[in-house]
Amino acid sequence: MTTRRTLVRSALASFAALGFVRNTRAAPGGGFELTLDDAEWRRRLTPEQYDVLRHEGTERAFTSPLLHEKRRGLFACAGCGRDLFSSETKFDSGTGWPSFWAPLDKAVGTEQDRSFGMVRTAVHCARCGGHLGHVFDDGPKPTGLRHCMNGVALTFKPTSA
Ligand SMILES: [Zn+2]
Repeated sequence: MTTRRTLVRSALASFAALGFVRNTRAAPGGGFELTLDDAEWRRRLTPEQYDVLRHEGTERAFTSPLLHEKRRGLFACAGCGRDLFSSETKFDSGTGWPSFWAPLDKAVGTEQDRSFGMVRTAVHCARCGGHLGHVFDDGPKPTGLRHCMNGVALTFKPTSA
């Protein structure tokens, strides 16, 4: 007999096999400088960006071209364009996701994320509320923080020489 729970689990597993795990929780709503309705976000973003930024999806590890981005510059929110991280704070965490030990001043917000049976701290863009990734306390000095970001949620703007 197939239970509903089994169906949900197999659906999630097949989705994960496609490379994305969609969180059931939506991005934090309301109170942001840039607020758009869902249809507008869908129009603006690629399906992958929409899934991560608006539905707290997670891109498959080691798939982001930004993982290997070593130039000087700024990483901005793919949803609204706000600058979020500097290349000065980027480091190779070995996790397969672009990682930073600090965000730019007031660029991101955090909230507790209890999905998937874990307690984590989710990170979102302070301007549009788009989900970016999570922050952990096993990062390098000087902050000891590891902002584990979905590369698809970011765009890179190299510093012109
Ligand atoms: Zn944003």
